[in-house]
Amino acid sequence: MLAAILMKTLLTITFTFLAIFCFGQIRENNDALYGLTIAYKPAVISVLADTGVISTSVNNGNISKMTYTSMMPGQYKIQISGHGQLRTIRDSIVVKNGQNLVLNFTFGGPCLYDHPADYIPTCPKKHTDSIISIVYGLVVTRGDSLIKDRKNLKIKYAGCVTTGCDPQFYCKEHDIEF
Ligand SMILES: [Zn+2]
Repeated sequence: MLAAILMKTLLTITFTFLAIFCFGQIRENNDALYGLTIAYKPAVISVLADTGVISTSVNNGNISKMTYTSMMPGQYKIQISGHGQLRTIRDSIVVKNGQNLVLNFTFGGPCLYDHPADYIPTCPKKHTDSIISIVYGLVVTRGDSLIKDRKNLKIKYAGCVTTGCDPQFYCKEHDIEF
């Protein structure tokens, strides 16, 4: 009998705690949260409203959370695309008055910039000329060896910051990295 009463009290305390916890979560986190799992990287993420595209950005797989502020309340769609990949649309993204839209990303697949060792660099526009390597990291030059005209470039220097999934080649003809 005593044990039953004790049990009931414990349960009541547990439920009260859970209720406070959940309520606290909702009050503190006034965001419209959506999780997106993408099987490749980089991915182009577009937020679409009825009026058109309101935001487009590239995620190289290094950004796990994107927050969109100053959203008009309403229904949105998220479009996910990548080179050579099927375009997918996630609809019924609801943002209520005063909410930020927060997207949490999980990347599960290969980096589309990883090429096999015997890969012949081919522009997405299907040609193999006018293509140069992209070099990452600190580059020491004499200053005069950096040529402004991209037609004359032999190597493209891309700076020190890498994401772990970065383009390896550059098409001078079409100004595309891949
Ligand atoms: Zn090209």
